[in-house]
Amino acid sequence: MKLLCAACLAILTVAAAAQAPPAVILVTLDGARIEEVFGGLDLSIVQSQLKLGQRAEDQALYKRYWAPTPEQRREKLMPFFWGTLMRAHGSIAGNPALGSRVSLTNKHWFSYPGYSEILVGRAHDDAIKSNDPVRNPNTTVLEYLRASQRLSRDQVAAFASWSVFSAIVEKTEGSIAVNAGYQPYESASPQVRRDSALQFETPTPWDSVRHDAYTVRFALDHLDRHRPRVLYLALGETDDWAHDGRYDRVLETYTRTDHYLKQLWDWLQAQPEYRDRTSILITTDHGRGRTPADWRDHGEKVAGAGETWMAFVSPSWPRRGEWRNHPPISASQVAATLIDWSGGDWKRFADAAAPIRP
Ligand SMILES: [Zn+2]
Repeated sequence: MKLLCAACLAILTVAAAAQAPPAVILVTLDGARIEEVFGGLDLSIVQSQLKLGQRAEDQALYKRYWAPTPEQRREKLMPFFWGTLMRAHGSIAGNPALGSRVSLTNKHWFSYPGYSEILVGRAHDDAIKSNDPVRNPNTTVLEYLRASQRLSRDQVAAFASWSVFSAIVEKTEGSIAVNAGYQPYESASPQVRRDSALQFETPTPWDSVRHDAYTVRFALDHLDRHRPRVLYLALGETDDWAHDGRYDRVLETYTRTDHYLKQLWDWLQAQPEYRDRTSILITTDHGRGRTPADWRDHGEKVAGAGETWMAFVSPSWPRRGEWRNHPPISASQVAATLIDWSGGDWKRFADAAAPIRP
């Protein structure tokens, strides 16, 4: 009898999980270059920062991240992403060495235009041309998914390290759950409440960007408590440390981000309603310069800043590993891809570019 009840419970749990629509998660790493994502440590940058008499091999960064091949270096930088997620579950486009290209269709090559292109499904270069915290004039895919699936506000959530996301992710303020920049986060957990207070005591060098560690903690807490069907996690430190010329911190941020992705993945795999029912897209808002002279920068005048990458993990996609020799894809296709994954009709979402197919 006891066994039967356990079996009944298992069946009920599986049935309840099957009723929920598939979940979609978007993750962005601000200004993450293809050079690091596909090749790990860039020795030319380390060499460019040496003082007179110093050797690259003696630097802590070199000791931690150097290896002879790009494949070995990138796996040292992001061991979970390359060693597990991309190897066994997903695929990634954007490596030019394999004839794979991902680009931006907006012409600005900085953050707000990049994120707006991703979330709206189309570049709007005349309307979106600065990083000022001006409300997005176009409905985002996050708002569309909430309305079309009749989800509650908490079931569509955006957590971001950069404060301007409060303006980017919604055309109509209050339509989804947003926590962006230095902003308190309410939780029933005493530990998370302490983390929320601590974000204000641990400032970054930048006024509008908090540490990614807080953004991730709050997003995972929200996942656990509200079980959203749509989650956007927008991490920022890969860009800000690069602007500051702190290549050591840039690489450390990649490795921390890799750990966050593992935390997220492990949590999803432990939940029947998310395991094998969740699609994840990981990408960036823009590239940056290709050389030691301009790797800190991006924008329309910086060669390479329009080149990006995109990683996919979806139970409905067969493809594994790295994309090779395919027609170029663009950031404007992300919105329709998320709608496609969630079972909706992307053609009903404004004038979004077509979804990416594996
Ligand atoms: Zn930037």
